[in-house]
Amino acid sequence: MTEIIDGKAVASEIRDDLTDAIERLADADARPGLATVLMGDDPASQTYVNMKQRDCEEVGIESTHVDVDGDAPAEALYDAIADLNDDPEIHGYIVQAPVPDHVDYREVIRRVDPAKDVDGFHPENVGRLVAGDARFRPCTPHGVQKLLAHAGVDLEGADVTIVGRSDIVGKPLANLLIQKADDGNATVTVCHSRTDNLAEKTRRADIVVAAAGAPELIDGSMIGEGTVVIDVGVNRVDADTEKGYELVGDVEFESAREHASAITPVPGGVGPMTRAMLLYNTVRAVSLQADVDVDLP
Ligand code: NAD
Repeated sequence: MTEIIDGKAVASEIRDDLTDAIERLADADARPGLATVLMGDDPASQTYVNMKQRDCEEVGIESTHVDVDGDAPAEALYDAIADLNDDPEIHGYIVQAPVPDHVDYREVIRRVDPAKDVDGFHPENVGRLVAGDARFRPCTPHGVQKLLAHAGVDLEGADVTIVGRSDIVGKPLANLLIQKADDGNATVTVCHSRTDNLAEKTRRADIVVAAAGAPELIDGSMIGEGTVVIDVGVNRVDADTEKGYELVGDVEFESAREHASAITPVPGGVGPMTRAMLLYNTVRAVSLQADVDVDLP
């Protein structure tokens, strides 16, 4: 029987534990504050920041939102960032991507105070992660690690094939999984759009993580017997639904589950974990800044 890994349930457990940690922080007068920043009015981005605000409310994190006009010069966004860096009530914030074309996202990230960089994208935080001393693990890779742990997957010596080399998923996940640590110690192959013979690399893996942004790229014929399959992809494809589309992963779920020992669904797999880990990082930010020890899940 293939196990369907329930990301919603695991995320909900993590949120419960975070709620306890937040209460302990409140006892020490350290109430966490998260801000979201959105430049422009991209509807998908608006939905994402709304969800992040709602998530905060649910666990007792104070949240604020900053809108920046999409036609304003980059300096308007830099000013908003400088204000958040100086604001003692804000322990962490995220600048929702994508930013408008005239703004250099890398420069934006460089301006975020690394201590408040709860996305974990600042070069200082990337460097610390690679060095095995992460301040903030980026939310999606961290969520994948937690899912694997909850599913009881043994990473020690396991062959992991990651499909995708982005700065927010593939690269940090590869770096986390090779660390000498209980939630690391894996042997990782990172594939990308120029990889030859992708199927050969996925078929020989004990664990496949798909993060390519390519709908149903990986089908059952590319999955070896007993593989654990983690599908990070979220892709809109045209469908005969009320909305005119449906969400599918990077894995063809039905054919892959015939071979997998465990698999995440889309939606309901990695997505809820990403959201929970942003809350986790916010709590971690407060505990580091206020120097209060909390047990993080
Ligand atoms: P990206 O576009 O930045 O990177 C995609 C990577 O996949 C690239 O490195 C590219 O080389 C590789 N790739 C693309 N097509 C490929 C192919 N045919 N064969 C092999 N490699 C290929 O994307 P991203 O930001 O890393 O996101 C990847 C997917 O994960 C998207 O569907 C995105 O929506 C989703 N995502 C989901 C969550 C979540 O919380 N569930 C979070 C982040 C991203």
